[in-house]
Amino acid sequence: MKNNGNNLGDVSYPSNLDELKKLIKSAKEKGYKLTLVGAGMSQNFQNVGGHLVDLKRLNSIEIRPQSRQVFIRGNVTFSEMEQEANKFGLSTKVRQASGIFGILSSIATNVHGWDHKTGTLATTIKVIYALDSNAKEVVFRPGHDGFRDCVGSYGSTYLMYGAIIQLTDNVLMQKVVTTHHSLAQALLNFPQDSAEDIDMALITIGYGGVFYLVRFFVLSRDPKVSQNLQLEGPIGPYFQRLWIDISRLLTLLGTKKALDWLNERLFFVTGWIQNETKLRNEFMNVEVNAIKKPLQGIGSIKFEVWLVEYFVRNQVDLAGLVELFQEEYKDIFVFNSAIRFVKAYPEAYSTYAEEDMWALVISWDQRQDKKSLELSAARNKRFLEFLRPRHGKFYMAYRNEAKDIVNFYPQFAMRLYLETRDSVFSNRMLESVKAEQERRIDADDL
Ligand SMILES: Cc1cc2nc3c(=O)[nH]c(=O)nc-3n(C[C@H](O)[C@H](O)[C@H](O)COP(=O)(O)OP(=O)(O)OC[C@H]3O[C@@H](n4cnc5c(N)ncnc54)[C@H](O)[C@@H]3O)c2cc1C
Repeated sequence: MKNNGNNLGDVSYPSNLDELKKLIKSAKEKGYKLTLVGAGMSQNFQNVGGHLVDLKRLNSIEIRPQSRQVFIRGNVTFSEMEQEANKFGLSTKVRQASGIFGILSSIATNVHGWDHKTGTLATTIKVIYALDSNAKEVVFRPGHDGFRDCVGSYGSTYLMYGAIIQLTDNVLMQKVVTTHHSLAQALLNFPQDSAEDIDMALITIGYGGVFYLVRFFVLSRDPKVSQNLQLEGPIGPYFQRLWIDISRLLTLLGTKKALDWLNERLFFVTGWIQNETKLRNEFMNVEVNAIKKPLQGIGSIKFEVWLVEYFVRNQVDLAGLVELFQEEYKDIFVFNSAIRFVKAYPEAYSTYAEEDMWALVISWDQRQDKKSLELSAARNKRFLEFLRPRHGKFYMAYRNEAKDIVNFYPQFAMRLYLETRDSVFSNRMLESVKAEQERRIDADDL
């Protein structure tokens, strides 16, 4: 056992399935929980609580060019897999706006990205290989109950150790950015599923009420190999780290307006808000994350890059949500805020997309002193008050309280409580949800 450098505590790194099974059996016998970890980037204490298990010594990547699929095992990141897929002119279809995350852990979260036609990651998974709490090997395909119990399970039900994923051709695309002075105008031009020549789209919210609609048009459907694909890591590129340090310094000097202005210029400097032609995997490789950069503040003043994501069911609610964001974040320096479209995927253990959803994702620099954290929690609460009567959702990968998870994900909370008591897999978020559910059942408060 040793620490993996992410301050996550003791970690086991089994190097084959037998070792993994022994670990599960031992935890079961001795009565402790195993906490499964991918890249360890979720923000709601999903990576703490039990004895950590990291599958990176099981890593393997096998591209199957005929079927355009990949068979991965272990704790492989998207970026690592894409290095191999690229050699065959293949690219990931759905993932986060960064490749630094684990693939299996992303199935456990059921992540989404810019592909407005495909929806969540689960739609691209063909087979899941897993172990249950008794260390029994199981294989699940879409439609199987076990498949649903893995997707969005946050490490509560099964330990996934492998998966077969559908990839897509690494096509040449043109990024076309249009500037709009109202959200309604940007949404008017947001592509429908039927727009055959547009494969990805999002709206970046700019400074001073400007909305940039970013669309990726396919120029040719012939698969291509990129000569420039870089392996991504959580420390981020030098430029990104430097920008975070400068922005922290300016924040302390109270120059929020100047910072917003500078950040907006950065969109242009980095080419984000410019039309350009690249391959699909190059566009997806945005390197926006210096989230694990070593320097996290100045002296006792600490910062962390935090995110929230809120989902609503229609454009009217989206307009209200964006207005709320503009009001609530007017004095906070925001790194990035964007609107995405996520197609419905109701068949998950926890689902934020029972219907097609519009999503607003916000990334900002959160000061870690008590008062700033309280203000942040109060702000989040106001967003949840907005969402609740509108049947909206928040993303569980980010910081939220157990009682809010029970309120917004009642079926998930109930199933966790009823069905995973004997599960050997758990983490702090799951335990706090179960405790809250139990409290409500005892108090007859559901
Ligand atoms: C900077 C940043 C940008 C992000 N952008 C996006 C985005 O664009 N779209 C999006 O959808 N999300 C996004 N997220 C959220 C992120 O995708 C999720 O938090 C994701 O789960 C993190 O992956 P990870 O490898 O760090 O997982 P971890 O945090 O390590 O684990 C996630 C969950 O999976 C479980 N798990 C891990 N391994 C296994 C396993 N082998 N079997 C079963 N369960 C397992 C863990 O217990 C945990 O509950 C972003 C997060 C950050 C910090």
